[in-house]
Amino acid sequence: MMDFRLESEFEQEIRSLCELIRWLHARGFTPATSSNFSVRPQGARDIFAVSRTGVDKSTFSPDQMMLVDASTGAARVPRDARPSAETLIHVVLYELFPEAACILHTHSVPGTVLSMQRASEGRIVFRDFEILKGLEHHDSHDVEEVLPIFANTQQMPELAARLRAHVGEHPELAGFLIEGHGLYTWGANVAAARRHLEVFEFLLECTLHLQR
Ligand SMILES: [Zn+2]
Repeated sequence: MMDFRLESEFEQEIRSLCELIRWLHARGFTPATSSNFSVRPQGARDIFAVSRTGVDKSTFSPDQMMLVDASTGAARVPRDARPSAETLIHVVLYELFPEAACILHTHSVPGTVLSMQRASEGRIVFRDFEILKGLEHHDSHDVEEVLPIFANTQQMPELAARLRAHVGEHPELAGFLIEGHGLYTWGANVAAARRHLEVFEFLLECTLHLQR
């Protein structure tokens, strides 16, 4: 276990997240050391823990997490650990969604394929799926959920700016796709984020089947 000297509740969340990461890898959602994940202590605004870059997710363990500064994404513990460039997206999401305490980013086949096929529309709209009730802000299947698709870029500040502008107009955002890349979603804890991820991945897979 990391020696962060933090509350045991946070350590438990880190353990749950690592278990989830290994499960996501087994399902093919995090191939070839891709994807990144983070969790923050309940109520904390100054730090969060994020997965280190370039790590195989099939055996992911708590010592492959690192603590970063919540406002810059710079390494805190260990100081010499290298955070992924995409850590900036986690920084912006925690700032935009103060109630979020876990962020999951995956590279699944359905998410990647659909993000490319629907890129010109800029979004995927899901309607009438019973599983929509699994998203925190819905209590019925009789709703519409919009998953926006942002253009891919290696310039994270550019993506962060687009994200900020989008959330300014659509504050109820629960997840988004990046074209040819993958999915981001989040929740108030690891369990809620996992539920959101499973809902979106299920919806993406169904959508792919339906258009065949
Ligand atoms: Zn990625």
